[in-house]
Amino acid sequence: MNGRGIEGLNVSATSMSQPSRVFVPSVTEEDGGTIGLGVFSSEEIAWKVLRKFLSKSHLMSLTRSDLVIWEIDQVGENGMTVLSSMHCRDCPVCKRRTFWIDLETYSAMCTGNLCEAWIEESTLEPGKIDLGWPPTRFLKQVENIEDALSELRIIGAEIEAAGRTPEDAFTSIPEE
Ligand SMILES: [Zn+2]
Repeated sequence: MNGRGIEGLNVSATSMSQPSRVFVPSVTEEDGGTIGLGVFSSEEIAWKVLRKFLSKSHLMSLTRSDLVIWEIDQVGENGMTVLSSMHCRDCPVCKRRTFWIDLETYSAMCTGNLCEAWIEESTLEPGKIDLGWPPTRFLKQVENIEDALSELRIIGAEIEAAGRTPEDAFTSIPEE
């Protein structure tokens, strides 16, 4: 009775195509400990899991996140490819430790509630850097990541000058 059910499961499991590679997101805590978030068969799901976890990163002391591809049945480090490494910094806008920055792809994103400041390399003009701050629909293009960070710092200074905290409604800040 039960055995038959299990047998059926086995058959469907073995007839499914086995993934040749898996996607493994993880985060590192301030004390150096690593938290594995699971092993996934698609990059899309692995990113979803990682982003969801990082959206709560203000509750933890995290220093970095990694998304690694492992080839199945490969011995040693040859089977491993680092897809993305992000470092957690203080956000130039909201000042919380929620700013995830990938120095290789020049992209960054604040996962802090009501902030979500971001930096991305322009898709239309490679080499240029776009940045934005959703609460005031602020968008700007600059030459490099340092300029992008200073632009965001200016927004942060304006908020501070206005005596606001990240928990306040940012939407009332007038646009330039
Ligand atoms: Zn922020």
